[in-house]
Amino acid sequence: MFRKNKITIDYSICGDGNKIDPRDCLKCMQACKPAVFLLHQTIGAKEKNPLDPQKWRITALWPSLCTKCMACVQICPENAVKVR
Ligand code: SF4
Ligand code: SF4
Repeated sequence: MFRKNKITIDYSICGDGNKIDPRDCLKCMQACKPAVFLLHQTIGAKEKNPLDPQKWRITALWPSLCTKCMACVQICPENAVKVR
């Protein structure tokens, strides 16, 4: 049976202009061999200067590729990534 992986990032910690700007870290993305993650602007975010957006997110866009190696969970310095 096809098993669905659920990969989440806590955006109250990393992303959306909160504590960590994912553009300054990228460790989870770099650790993921199947390249499950995508870095993108937060969709619909209100920006002071739309030409210099500050609200970014990393999203697990292709969770079906995840091998559950847990590298992203282990490397995140903020404990913001969850895989189940
Ligand atoms: S558990 Fe491994 S394969 Fe899955 S998203 Fe994290 S680093 Fe990628
Ligand atoms: S490793 Fe953690 S802090 Fe770094 S970009 Fe990924 S979710 Fe954010």
